[in-house]
Amino acid sequence: MRSIPFLLFIVPLLWSCSQSVPSTNSPETRPNIIFIMTDDHAKNAMSLYGSELIQTPNLDRIGNEGMIFNRSYVTNSICGPSRAVFLTGKYSHVNGFRDNSDLFDGSQMTYPKILQNNGYYTAVVGKWHLKSVPQGFDYWNVLIGQGNYYNPTMVNMGDTVNHTGYTTNIITDLAIEALEDKIPDGKPFCLMVHHKAPHRNWMPDSAHLALGEQSYPLPDNFYDTYENRLAAAQQDQAISRMFMSSDMKLEPTRVRVETGSGGAADNTHVAAGWQRLYDQLTEGQKEYWDAYYQPISDEFFARNLQGNELIEWKYQRYINDYLKCIMSVDDNVGRLLNYLEQQGTLDNTWIIYTSDQGFYLGEHGWYDKRFMYEESFGMPLVMRYPPLIDPGSVNNNLVLNLDFAPTVMDLLGIDTNEPWQGKSMLPLMKGSQQELHPDGIYYHYYEYPHGWHKVKRHYGISTPRYKLIHFYNDIDQWELYDLQEDPQEMNNIYDQADPALIADLKEKLVKLQDQYADIEFE
Ligand code: CA
Repeated sequence: MRSIPFLLFIVPLLWSCSQSVPSTNSPETRPNIIFIMTDDHAKNAMSLYGSELIQTPNLDRIGNEGMIFNRSYVTNSICGPSRAVFLTGKYSHVNGFRDNSDLFDGSQMTYPKILQNNGYYTAVVGKWHLKSVPQGFDYWNVLIGQGNYYNPTMVNMGDTVNHTGYTTNIITDLAIEALEDKIPDGKPFCLMVHHKAPHRNWMPDSAHLALGEQSYPLPDNFYDTYENRLAAAQQDQAISRMFMSSDMKLEPTRVRVETGSGGAADNTHVAAGWQRLYDQLTEGQKEYWDAYYQPISDEFFARNLQGNELIEWKYQRYINDYLKCIMSVDDNVGRLLNYLEQQGTLDNTWIIYTSDQGFYLGEHGWYDKRFMYEESFGMPLVMRYPPLIDPGSVNNNLVLNLDFAPTVMDLLGIDTNEPWQGKSMLPLMKGSQQELHPDGIYYHYYEYPHGWHKVKRHYGISTPRYKLIHFYNDIDQWELYDLQEDPQEMNNIYDQADPALIADLKEKLVKLQDQYADIEFE
């Protein structure tokens, strides 16, 4: 173990705690909190949301024994920015983390800091991805940047530690270890368990490789031609262009020159990077890895696939690996739930499972996220807390990651002067079906023209039925969808819709932009 000043942690550690005031609640009324967040988990890969691709019994258990949120959304569909919104309860333009090239200003107020000031033990294990040092935590043990699927290097309170094993298992081990050894007896805690999975490049564990390769159905709109949707036509996140090396996992020695663009501005180093990832596996890991992937490579090079056959082969490869990474998350969440059950603490712990945003599993021919379309705008959200949430509850209101921090404050009865931009979900958790956001929910995405995947900058509003999006910067196109008639968002009706409908949505959009003080549209 050695201590190094590494690139990710460059912000001063001091912060002010002047904005929160002590809770009036007694400790007995304050639940423990376990917030589990994965990275890029599509609702379509969770059986509770009707997935035909996978069974996720342990993730489903949280929702089935608690509440399922069917319409949970993100304000900016990309990793770092979503995490910053969860922590601060404020939009990207306010918390300052607009895209993954930004650095999180850790001196600002976050809900873990307020919990810590109110007597909670706070901890985060797993993916952090905000570049600056985690602040407001009694214990933090996080991956560097995106982290690796195998044998990750983590930073434990400033010390780098090399682990051996599969990262989803390791993060869960660290979470259970924190519960067992670190949290002082009788002190309420908030433990954030942030998995790397199922982020690209989807490297499964041995247990799930043993299940073998399966064939999955193509989404109806896999061969989307993007009519009337310029930004959709100009993205670089098509499965057809995925990396043959690190995405498809062809043998490194046989893919010395990467031919897929993979959404990267420069793909010249990708094949070498894949070789390095492979080389980092232990001999034992290489054994089962090669047993699975070498025959796939051999068959691929023997077949000389072309055209749609090649594209569909890529889809199958992608989905097979993606789902196996989710299976590991599901197993490990089950392990954590079982541990809590054995300790007798399951029912007095508020358990939340969500993802930083959704993901495309072949819809529109894509992988990745970023767009305000449903697959990447929405994400799973389920919670379990029997003292408050009736088992089998379902909520269909629009909620945002922005709402989480104020929900924590409301549930715990902590008064703050913090200008949260979200709304408390507590009434919904108690059974209300009233919209928290009666004017609709607001979205703004920024990572263009820099960054990955060439998804144009855009902002928009979604109401329960309609979604209006404006793509800007080097493009100027409005899109309007009727989610009831066109849930796959294939038909942009902006030019045909009733002008009164458009005027009403634009009025609400401007109202939300004013309310959130969002004024940057360049
Ligand atoms: Ca993500």
